Amino acid sequence: MAENGYLPYGRQSIDQTDIQAVTEILQSDWLTTGPVVECFEKAVAASAGTAFCVAVSNGTAALHAAMFAIDIKPGDEVIVPPLTFAATANAVLYQGGIPVFADVDPETLLLDPVAVEQLITVKTKAVIAVDYAGQACDYKKLQALCRQHDLFLISDACHSLGGGYCGEPCGSQADLSVFSFHPVKPIAAAEGGAVVTNDENLWQKMRRFRNHGITTDHRERTGAGTWDYDMVELGFNYRLSDLHAALGLSQLKRLPAFIQRRQQLAKKYDEVFSGTSIVPLKYRDEVSHGYHLYVVRVENRQQVFEQLRAARIGCNVHYKPVYLHSYYLEKLGFVAGLCPAAETAYTEILSLPIYPDLSDDQQQRVISEILGIV
Ligand SMILES: *Cc1c(COP(=O)(O)O)cnc(C)c1O
Repeated sequence: MAENGYLPYGRQSIDQTDIQAVTEILQSDWLTTGPVVECFEKAVAASAGTAFCVAVSNGTAALHAAMFAIDIKPGDEVIVPPLTFAATANAVLYQGGIPVFADVDPETLLLDPVAVEQLITVKTKAVIAVDYAGQACDYKKLQALCRQHDLFLISDACHSLGGGYCGEPCGSQADLSVFSFHPVKPIAAAEGGAVVTNDENLWQKMRRFRNHGITTDHRERTGAGTWDYDMVELGFNYRLSDLHAALGLSQLKRLPAFIQRRQQLAKKYDEVFSGTSIVPLKYRDEVSHGYHLYVVRVENRQQVFEQLRAARIGCNVHYKPVYLHSYYLEKLGFVAGLCPAAETAYTEILSLPIYPDLSDDQQQRVISEILGIV
């Protein structure tokens, strides 16, 4: 698949049924938000075990919609982990809120509930937990903490769609859970995102938010035979198209097989790395890991990274702690040293190729190369 034998760390898996699903939409009445978006939303909600879903144009828009729905305002604090894609914290900034970084557990690299508790102030409104690499956070502790302090619990489940926690699907642990359908994520819609919830009010707010704050969409007005609409609050155009939704819907049917293959690849890596200086992250028993990423810790990370890249293996680093980005340091005044466990991990972690279409032979190439290096 990959050009010139280059193995990326992640990529989409597209088959004939996906192609068929998208071509059908090109010949239908609605290219943008239409009946397929609604079908996709119902299917995503069902697979996440929630009552409602709103699909939007990408995962970042989904996070923004979540922050809007819970009414984050200037000065409000939202606790987030530093080891995540910048979008998690940026969404707080979009609303004028203040991201407060709580450190991660050094073994799982998931948000540490003890660190969260220490940072709660009268200004704290919410906690965003990130299911880093595809492993669900410690939601029992986070739920108890949020209940006790009257905070919203938001799950950034962009890595964990298809995974599970205590026998329940990822996406059903928080007040609002966010997914991304970017090609490297568990399913691809090319671009796309969604928020799932059991709260009908929050759902309605997010439906308006993705469509300029207007109470009805074009299709609803056509159906009702009216031209009139009302804009009741300031929203955006964050709509998903039927084209994207058709791909997402087709991919969602393949999700269980995707996860199974990812888990199989991870198990193989775990086995061959056991007893070596390549150390996989700790896996918790109550979790069914989605393995969006396969992350190991190595000594001499920079050297291992460079040699793997020279061998055409697209390993990567997820993530630089968000507050170490120039914008956060220079414009927002964050300083290094804030979250020591995340900063130490950042010098040691490496994401190895893992995706459904990675063959056994290709994985063996990765294994041979990295074992040869360390
Ligand atoms: C990918 C990702 C996002 C953003 O999703 P997009 O669809 O790329 O906008 C947010 N949070 C995390 C943890 C992600 O991995």
